[in-house]
This record gives sequence, C-alpha cells and structure tokens, in this order.
Amino acid sequence: MELTKKCPNCGKKVLANAKKCKHCNEWFNTCSFCAEKIENNLKICPHCKEVLVKKERHGFITFWLWFGVICTVNATIVLIILIWLTDVLEQVPGLVWLTDVLEQVPGLDQFILLINICCMLGYMALLNWEKIGFWAVAIGQSIIASSTIFYETNLYGETGLFGWLILTLFCFIPNAGILYAILQLKRNAVSCWENLE
Ligand SMILES: [Zn+2]
Ligand SMILES: [Zn+2]
Repeated sequence: MELTKKCPNCGKKVLANAKKCKHCNEWFNTCSFCAEKIENNLKICPHCKEVLVKKERHGFITFWLWFGVICTVNATIVLIILIWLTDVLEQVPGLVWLTDVLEQVPGLDQFILLINICCMLGYMALLNWEKIGFWAVAIGQSIIASSTIFYETNLYGETGLFGWLILTLFCFIPNAGILYAILQLKRNAVSCWENLE
C-alpha cells in the first residue's frame, strides 16, 4: 500500500513523497534548511530567514567590481603618499608638478581622498549585493572626475563652486549610466541589479 497525503490546495489524495499535486499542479515546496512549507520561487525562507536561491552575478561584473576595488585602493595609497609624504615626493625628479597641482586648491587633495575611500567602500558594498554601493560609486566617481578636470584646467578660479557642481552633475550621467548598464548583465536570467538590496 502506498502512503498518501492530502493536497493542501485541492484536498485530493496524492503520493506522500510527491513534489507537485497531479490534480491541481500545486507544488509542495519545503525549505531545505528548516523543512517548513513555503511558496515556490521564494528567495528567502519566511520561517528561518535562510537564503534559498544563491545569488550569482555575471563574471564581467565581478571583474569590473574587483577592478574598481583595486583602482580605488591604489588611488588611496597614492593620495596618502601625496598628502603626508609631500617632502619625500619633492625629492623625486619629475614629480614636482604633482605637488604644485595639489597646492593650488587647499584641502582638495584630502577631499578627494575621502571621496575615493567612499568609492572603494561602494565597490565593496556592490560585491556584497548592497544597492547603496551603486550611489556611492556613481556619485563618488563623478566628484573625482569633475575635481580632476578642475585640477587640470585650473577652472576653479574662474567658475568657483557653482561651476564645479554643474560639472559634477554632467559627470554623473555617464558615470551612473555605464555602471547601471554593466549591472544589467544577467546570470541565470537574473541581472545583478535585480539582486541588489
Ligand atoms: Zn491539489
Ligand atoms: Zn526555512
């Protein structure tokens, strides 16, 4: 004699080990962690809060995010050297221009260091599926881009803070757009962006 159970949906008898009701097509899904009955396609078990579907991202996104981490860590080290080891740098022939540039706008190098660390944390947050990382990277990179343009062209003296803000806004569009586009790459039919929380 075969063991049977009642389908909780239609009440008809089905095999005890059935995963799906043959009468009404209802799935008998259970959590693989706590064995409680759960709906199909849930990402997190409502009973034990375990993550049921392991998140995966396209390999290019992983590469892009780690590349971002490496670049920002690198830039952080360089900026720390520039700010606190200026005397050492001045001894290196060919690097004097760099220290000259940094002296043009007082405090800007420390400011960029701070923004750069924000970008680094943003890339790490994105690797950890946190959507706030997107904003940290997109806004941070835009500020660094506009500040760098001001460094190079010495525009700050002409336009001041307002010009810098406008330029930052213009830099935000391509920065955020490119990052957003990359995060749309899919793995197992789900984009990285959809997996962000
Ligand atoms: Zn049924
Ligand atoms: Zn569970």
